[in-house]
Amino acid sequence: GDHKAMASAAVDDLRGQVAGTVLLADDPGYDEARRVWNGMIDRRPAAVVRAASAADIAPTVRYARSHALPLAVRGGGHNVAGNGTVDGGIVLDLGGLTAVRVDEEGGTVQAQAGATLGDIDRATAPHHLAVPVGVVSGTGVAGLTLGGGVGWLTRAHGLTIDSLLSADLVTASGELLRASATENPELFWGIRGGGGNFGVVSSFTFRAHPLPAEVFSGSLVYRRDGWANALRAYEAWTRDLPDELTSIVSFLVPPETWELGGDPLMLLGFVWASPDAAEGGRIVDRLRAAAPPDTEMVEPARWAEWQSAADEMFPKGVRGYWKNTSFDRLDDDVIGTLVRRGAEQTWRGTGFDIHHLGGAYGRVAEDATPFPNRSARFWLNVYGYWPDAADDVPCTAFVRGMAGDMEPYSTGGQYLNFLGEERGRDPLAQALSIYGPEKLQRLAALKREVDPENIFRLNHNIPPV
Ligand code: FAD
Repeated sequence: GDHKAMASAAVDDLRGQVAGTVLLADDPGYDEARRVWNGMIDRRPAAVVRAASAADIAPTVRYARSHALPLAVRGGGHNVAGNGTVDGGIVLDLGGLTAVRVDEEGGTVQAQAGATLGDIDRATAPHHLAVPVGVVSGTGVAGLTLGGGVGWLTRAHGLTIDSLLSADLVTASGELLRASATENPELFWGIRGGGGNFGVVSSFTFRAHPLPAEVFSGSLVYRRDGWANALRAYEAWTRDLPDELTSIVSFLVPPETWELGGDPLMLLGFVWASPDAAEGGRIVDRLRAAAPPDTEMVEPARWAEWQSAADEMFPKGVRGYWKNTSFDRLDDDVIGTLVRRGAEQTWRGTGFDIHHLGGAYGRVAEDATPFPNRSARFWLNVYGYWPDAADDVPCTAFVRGMAGDMEPYSTGGQYLNFLGEERGRDPLAQALSIYGPEKLQRLAALKREVDPENIFRLNHNIPPV
């Protein structure tokens, strides 16, 4: 209608201000451009700006601001809550800016804001280096980093933000700033877990860590009957592990191509981030002895391959609703809940993961970053990836139910990157559940300083109040 025509006219002259492509509703490619990873998110932006370079960021921010249009900022588009798009506003899509530069001598990696985790892993692996990122290669570095970044190197080297050295960003007023330990340090504090609230990042510089060309890694696989015993053994095993061993326990029906059948399984995945594979073998043997797996998939893997092993489960367009919580106990009560809920998942399309924390993650001081709960022993992520809209109700109900069952054991905080869309939820209550009162106060003070009008609000928002 009229509103749509006005919005189109208003964004039309944006084309004169950026070098990248500006797609309006009637343009070919618009439908593909408006889509994000989560197929449940179906929004119609007034325009999608595909940045041709970082120079397109400031004019797009100024444009959205002066026309009072909501602005969504997109890197890899994997945000589960759908913040990478918006009805009637501007999408600033940085997905074309994927350059990654490795400085082998300096041990640093610089990535543009549209790079995916795969772009980083493929660039660093030939140098026998790695940046700790997440576990699915198509995920965007930008969103992942700004929220925290947990993956297979979390115990060895901490979250992605713990290896962040600096970021270049464009503020709400269009100013270019660098944030690091020495430049704009409060801003640097805020972007390490505060999400996209404080500006549009054009590039990130990370510390890279040595990693062998082949990494001793794999999964021990357990059928339903062995879960309780394996979880008890896992509880004991995780009390005494070197940092180099990171593990994630998944409950799901694996993809058909893995040829493990159609029953729900427990996959105990691990990465040993050390060149001493024999030592890693001895450590995993202790677990094998206490809880012999029904089968296993364990062999040295090239890093970039290991990092994309789960990709096929999560293609763009599947439907996503996620929830998470931290917990410390892996006693019979919690094990009972995990086993019951795990066995309930007789379908492909939802799963839940237990991330074992501690190690380098746990040694970062709680107030060093906004990321919540460094003392958590475990983090639970309950996730959906089902293809069919007809399954929306049962699958979202499963995710809610499982997360609800674990709520009594929660030790606080929420990981914003593992949260789905909660329609109608008050942003302040949501932010409080993520950060707790002290960190939220500090984040809100920073928000008032750098984005008092809340231009950057399509995120897990920190209201500037
Ligand atoms: P986008 O949707 O592009 O961006 C997410 C949000 O980040 C945006 O809404 C915006 O607020 C902000 N943002 C993006 N780019 C910028 C920028 N340049 N400047 C400022 N703000 C920006 N997380 C983990 O920690 N570990 C995992 O192993 C992991 N695995 C995942 C697997 C899958 C299949 C999926 C879907 C998600 C996974 N995640 C994981 C969660 C992931 O970290 C978040 O979904 C994250 O938001 C993805 O970032 P993105 O750039 O792809 O998303």
